[in-house]
Amino acid sequence: MKARFVDQGADRYVVGNVTQFDQKNEMFCRPLWDEEMLDLGKKFYMTEVPPRNKPGYRLKDQAMVNAAWHLENTFAQGVAGGRMGMYAWEWDQIFEFPLVPPGLKIDLDNPAEVTDGIKRVAKFFGSALVGVCKLDRRWVYSAAFPFRDQKPTPSELGDQYQYAIAIAIEMNYQAIRCSPTSPSSAATGLGYSKMAFIAGLLAHYIRGLGFKAIACGNDTACSIPIAIDAGLGELARNGLLITQAFGPRIRLAKVLTDMPLIADRPIEFGVWDFCLKCEKCAVKCPSQSIAYGEPTDKLNNISNRQGLLRWPINAVECLRFWAANGTDCANCIRTCPFNKPTGWLHDTVRWGVRNLRWLNPFFLWMDDICGYGKQTNADKFWTTQ
Ligand code: SF4
Ligand code: SF4
Repeated sequence: MKARFVDQGADRYVVGNVTQFDQKNEMFCRPLWDEEMLDLGKKFYMTEVPPRNKPGYRLKDQAMVNAAWHLENTFAQGVAGGRMGMYAWEWDQIFEFPLVPPGLKIDLDNPAEVTDGIKRVAKFFGSALVGVCKLDRRWVYSAAFPFRDQKPTPSELGDQYQYAIAIAIEMNYQAIRCSPTSPSSAATGLGYSKMAFIAGLLAHYIRGLGFKAIACGNDTACSIPIAIDAGLGELARNGLLITQAFGPRIRLAKVLTDMPLIADRPIEFGVWDFCLKCEKCAVKCPSQSIAYGEPTDKLNNISNRQGLLRWPINAVECLRFWAANGTDCANCIRTCPFNKPTGWLHDTVRWGVRNLRWLNPFFLWMDDICGYGKQTNADKFWTTQ
């Protein structure tokens, strides 16, 4: 599937002064310090959630969620500030075989070949999509907010990190269809664990080539604008990145490096125009956190960035639903018409969305008629996987 290359990456959404975002204002951090969110934080982070005799909320469902998150939570903690385990900025060469002599550097006479090699290695490690861009410093957090000591720390990312490698990990289609119940949360958790696994290994590969590399999950910089700059997709009404192959059914990680690479070109394939006609994610959002109507640069609260034209998400209400639900939610992924497996039928519609935009109301109508986006009973997930 070919997309149209465009000159602007995430810059296409900039309509005002965009300053670096302070990570402490992000949805997962505010419940730890923002007085208006402390009660919600206690409910979300510290309240036991007994299993219920209900599809998707049984003990086996909850155990699957926690198992899926295990690598991220124990060996990376990208949601909680990163900079440890797979996301560590400093590392010891405890054991390596072959033990390569230190100080070696790959020949960069052919940067296109080196860039291609890095993408191939990212895919070999498990990445579904990979793209490269020059790192736009506006997307780097002004300060980090590590959960460990909850002290905002000014960004220490050195100027030498000029490039970003954006990585997209596909999440399981059948599991996401069970949203907002646990199989979907497990798909999300597994996505986070794979982010740490793939980005951590890729960063170590680049270090092995003689360059600096930092693997990041949600920490250090905003992933979505970097992925847009790297040509992985477009911003949508649901506040997520829409990719051509998987729609919003992906998780994003990135590796920041000083290795000179060939940047990809940003793409456009009709997402913005389609979102203008479609409000399925807004209708099916249980907390009504997704905006209807036209895009705007207005903010709901401090979790939204300034200076961008888009549909701002109300992250406070979103998190309030997660806390009440006892697990997270992916309805805005499940219901999105771009969330479909690849195959000739869906690929044909994707082609139509890109090239025959006047037919968008018809594609939307067909999506409804065919019943796409409906929730699957989580018990079915256990018998069909
Ligand atoms: S995750 Fe669920 S509650 Fe939050 S914005 Fe998406 S659909 Fe709404
Ligand atoms: S559900 Fe519709 S409006 Fe929402 S992100 Fe997907 S295409 Fe856009």
